[in-house]
Amino acid sequence: MQRVTIVSSPEAGPLTRRACEELRDFAGRLWAAEVDTVESGPAGLEADAALCIVVGTPEQPHVRDALGNLGAQASPVESGSYALRGKDNVVAVVGADDAGALYGSYELLELLGVRFYLSGESLPRRGPVTVPPCDIDRAPVVRLRGFMPYTDFLTGPSTWDKEDYLRVIDSAARLKLNLFSMHFYTFEPVGQFTFKGQRRTEAFWDTSRTTRWHKRPGRISDFVAGREHFADYLADDTFGARSAIDATAPEERFRLAEADIRAAFAHAKERGMRTTIGIEVTDPPLEFRALVDPGSRYGENGFGICPSSADARELLTGWLTGLITTFPEVDTYTLWQTETGPSRWTAGCTCERCTRFRAEHPLPRYTIDDLLGKVSAQVYDVEDITESAQTFLQWVLLGHDILRELAPDKQVALAGWYIEHLFRDASPYLPEEVVLSSMTEVDPWEAPPLLDHYQGVDRERWLINWWEIDFRMWLPQPKVSAYPPIMAKARRYGIDGIIWQHWRTRTVDDNARYTALVMWQPDLTPDEYYRDVFGVEWGEAAAIEAAEAMRLFERYEQWLCHDLGWQVFTQDWYPPTINQALEFMGVHGAVPPQIVADIEAKLDEIPRIRARLAEVREALRVARTKAVVLRDGDRPGFWEHRVELYQLFIDCLEHVGEAALAYRDATCGDRPTASETQALKRAYEALRTAPVLQLIQKLAERVEDRGDLGTLVNLNNELWSRYRDALDGITRWFTDAAVGGLWTLRILPDGTLRPPVIGPDALRPEGQWS
Ligand SMILES: [Zn+2]
Repeated sequence: MQRVTIVSSPEAGPLTRRACEELRDFAGRLWAAEVDTVESGPAGLEADAALCIVVGTPEQPHVRDALGNLGAQASPVESGSYALRGKDNVVAVVGADDAGALYGSYELLELLGVRFYLSGESLPRRGPVTVPPCDIDRAPVVRLRGFMPYTDFLTGPSTWDKEDYLRVIDSAARLKLNLFSMHFYTFEPVGQFTFKGQRRTEAFWDTSRTTRWHKRPGRISDFVAGREHFADYLADDTFGARSAIDATAPEERFRLAEADIRAAFAHAKERGMRTTIGIEVTDPPLEFRALVDPGSRYGENGFGICPSSADARELLTGWLTGLITTFPEVDTYTLWQTETGPSRWTAGCTCERCTRFRAEHPLPRYTIDDLLGKVSAQVYDVEDITESAQTFLQWVLLGHDILRELAPDKQVALAGWYIEHLFRDASPYLPEEVVLSSMTEVDPWEAPPLLDHYQGVDRERWLINWWEIDFRMWLPQPKVSAYPPIMAKARRYGIDGIIWQHWRTRTVDDNARYTALVMWQPDLTPDEYYRDVFGVEWGEAAAIEAAEAMRLFERYEQWLCHDLGWQVFTQDWYPPTINQALEFMGVHGAVPPQIVADIEAKLDEIPRIRARLAEVREALRVARTKAVVLRDGDRPGFWEHRVELYQLFIDCLEHVGEAALAYRDATCGDRPTASETQALKRAYEALRTAPVLQLIQKLAERVEDRGDLGTLVNLNNELWSRYRDALDGITRWFTDAAVGGLWTLRILPDGTLRPPVIGPDALRPEGQWS
């Protein structure tokens, strides 16, 4: 049997030890070889080993010896950087530091054919030991390379357990990311504390049985399709994080949720990452507002807490103390402006001290162009955002003041939604060590001009960008080609950190891997990227075609989201067009004009949407005909599957849209007349033939991550239930309709009667009419 030896030293740091573990484990998966790890010099080890991998830093003797034997030099300097040198059967992984040794080891594994992704990795089939040619020097072009799994919806980490966090953190480390970031809304069960003798009670993770975001709750046992993926959840008939399902009281909700998050932070530290936790300081827990002295509150119903008040200081001190006590290992505490709380949308407190604060800290009046691109600008009121900026600044200064006392050795950052416009103007008011960070415009094609706000701000700045957005949460969102202009600006302005936000893992694999790579190899083009990742799976001939298919797919994305401005095309629980139309047919009756207008706009574009998706599918099909399948797991098949899913969604959209228009025609009056029954029949037929069930079954065919589980929940709880209600709604109208019209529905085109549907099949759409 071939032998592989991995050599480190007794002085090896924790990340070098991790590197050796990873090399050993992956070597065992790559090759049928005996793999040893040793902590001694390389002398004499090279001779009989098929491969000897020496890992460490330049000053360590075994690395010096190995480089001497190789006749090579390597002296990486920058933190995290590394050099690989090899000849014959020896490879030296030389890190500038402990982290560099780990990242260099991952680079070596990539040279050996491994491809790392957020959701896992792709490996060549097992074979004999190979020794790659290597002479590589690599240093990061972005110092802090971060990721932020984003809690709120069922498609994201709100449903994760500890193990899910650990797995994603391991994957992120393999992508050479070194900053793990979490943000928590005030309504989430992280950040328990005591204020005036009371503990927090009003926070929870969403599950398939909760109703936040206007979600429809449902039982797994009622799912029409995909139940087989929820075996672990059937006992409770609920999908969600264990911490949410198992908790029986508010205190326990916090305790269990915080234990998972604490484990995640600890694990990230073990993987060499910096960590940051954030709370929305301008939006304190709802249940504590009533405890605040009425004289310290402002605004309608006293929603606001005066940031100058003693109660505000006491409250925030308690909150931050809770955070520091529960998560002491975190490096940076991030003070966020609220996304959804009232403080973001209103002018500040009118008390004398707050008024004086605003006079002493003037900010310009911003225009919408300062804040957002044209697509997102449709949903924001610039006046509100401008008015709330100083309130945010007040809370940040208060939070910073408290943190300096509680945790003088920790870093403090501020963050918010699209607040980079504040950077230059707010900077003079902020202590110099406060990090500025901001989520950037969700439309990646519109983001680059807004990044100009980072220019010339002389302090640490982080950019928060998106691997996916939540407006099309269950559709694929490939947009690798949108990132280079963002990366170019980030480099030009010397942005210190980039944090990539996401919910799902498998769907964002390419967005994540590409951005992770370009933070080291800024010249890597999207086309080179896709050719590589398809090439290792399908061979070079197919890779050219597949890269072309992805280019078509990404151009489609750009057209849909940017050119048409349909960022909000479908949401996981709230596809604006389909669900609204269904909701009105099922529950509310006549479809309102603005929804009809939206439907008509969508229907107008369906031929083009369909044609473009068909083009993508055809290009992927052609690529597959040229493929020499080199790896197991059918990774490229993921895209083929998701395009098919997408096409089914478009079919559903068309059917539901046509049904809604016909329904509108039929329901102009209080009840359909005989002549309108024909329109009602058209509505029913369009709806009945909508492939809603097939759509859900299609996803159930290929569930790849917890995000897909969340989507299955949403499709069942939201789409399917509304679909059934809509069919029921129409049949209710038939009860009031002319009898003759009703009967036409039962008659099939060939003149025979539609058979009644009974038994288990009654759950199918056909069963709505029997
Ligand atoms: Zn005030």
